[in-house]
Amino acid sequence: MITMIAPDDAIRLVLENAPLLPSHKVPLSQACGLKLAEPVLSDRDYPPFPRAMMDGYAVRLADAAATVEVIGEVAAGCSVETQVTEGQCLEIMTGAPCPPGTEAVVQKEHVRRDGSQVTLPREIKLGGHIAPRGSECRGGVVVLKPGDTITPLATAVIASMGLDSILATRRPTLAVITTGSELVPPGTEPAPGQIRDSNGPMLASMARDLRIDSPLHLHVSDREDEILQAISSVAEYDIVLLTGGVSVGNYDLVPPALRDFGAETIFHKVRQKPGKPLLLAKKDSQLLFGLPGNPLACHFCFHHYVAAAIRKMSGKSTLSSPVLGSLTEAVKPKKGRTHFVAACAQQDGSTGPWSVRPLPGVSSADIFGACMANCYAEIPPDHDSLAAGNIVSFTWIGNGPWAN
Ligand code: AMP
Ligand code: MG
Repeated sequence: MITMIAPDDAIRLVLENAPLLPSHKVPLSQACGLKLAEPVLSDRDYPPFPRAMMDGYAVRLADAAATVEVIGEVAAGCSVETQVTEGQCLEIMTGAPCPPGTEAVVQKEHVRRDGSQVTLPREIKLGGHIAPRGSECRGGVVVLKPGDTITPLATAVIASMGLDSILATRRPTLAVITTGSELVPPGTEPAPGQIRDSNGPMLASMARDLRIDSPLHLHVSDREDEILQAISSVAEYDIVLLTGGVSVGNYDLVPPALRDFGAETIFHKVRQKPGKPLLLAKKDSQLLFGLPGNPLACHFCFHHYVAAAIRKMSGKSTLSSPVLGSLTEAVKPKKGRTHFVAACAQQDGSTGPWSVRPLPGVSSADIFGACMANCYAEIPPDHDSLAAGNIVSFTWIGNGPWAN
């Protein structure tokens, strides 16, 4: 077991030990955000027929400026075999297949209609308002490849190709075990000395932010047998997050419970603030994180380490890229540990530089000062103060600058 390592080494070990999960068939309705694990081929030309792009009239070019007879109608979903010939036209709706002989579709707004006759505009462009068969996509070509992210637009493409399920990467399943005899669930009146569990709801919502459905939540008191029993009961989950009980107090019983469970401790303690007590263990392909009980430390450790593991396991590029910004106020970290400061990053205009405002008075426990943070700024371990104006790197909390 490695102890008191640098955050970069801890991240490396998290990524080395997080297995890429095997891909599986997913209903298309649940595939958004996953990575494709198979190519998607177009099953036919798209559009499959010359398609009207406007509500109007299917006409011949020779009839420009002429008054012609409307001999029928083609609605979307119909297939009309009536030939369009000179002196005649068919009324046509957006999305309908152009009948044979159509040389252009003239917009409804550009004709004068009188009973069964329309007078066409002077200029009609060949192919106007017609999407030719196969003009958007040819049959048999690869439209999406393995590794592509299934975005809502990609979902539309896959649905167009007739697939209602797809081979895609799998997101890990996640169980949260909060530990602490002092904790009661929100909605319960705490007795003297008790507080409410905030890590449980926080971690569940962070997991849902990463589209992990229905994370399990168990709570146990500071008894090793209870912790061990809870860990054993979630053996089929890909990731287990334990919070609290991972430090050096008399009732910090997560490390021995993990040992009794037969998990290998990969590292324990990281030279960082917040989140020094962080522990990573592994049993077979299951990753078990011992997250600090202090709520802000717990939040940071999920943000920085657990999210990286989830991304790696679901086949995503693993780390979110840091952004640079200048501090609006001085920070006074303790030398020797990397500090991750909850902050608000703001941009000057829409293209200007980022400024990073450290949030006041935040300790590893204080979620109140930090609750409107949109990023964590990283202060390297070789500083004991950093003046306003210094450039720091930061990572977005959640899904980016628009998250808050
Ligand atoms: P521990 O890591 O168990 O020593 O806990 C450190 C601090 O975090 C203590 O003040 C705990 O009461 C608090 N804490 C632990 N778990 C939670 C939780 N789930 N929700 C809120 N606070 C917690
Ligand atoms: Mg505790």
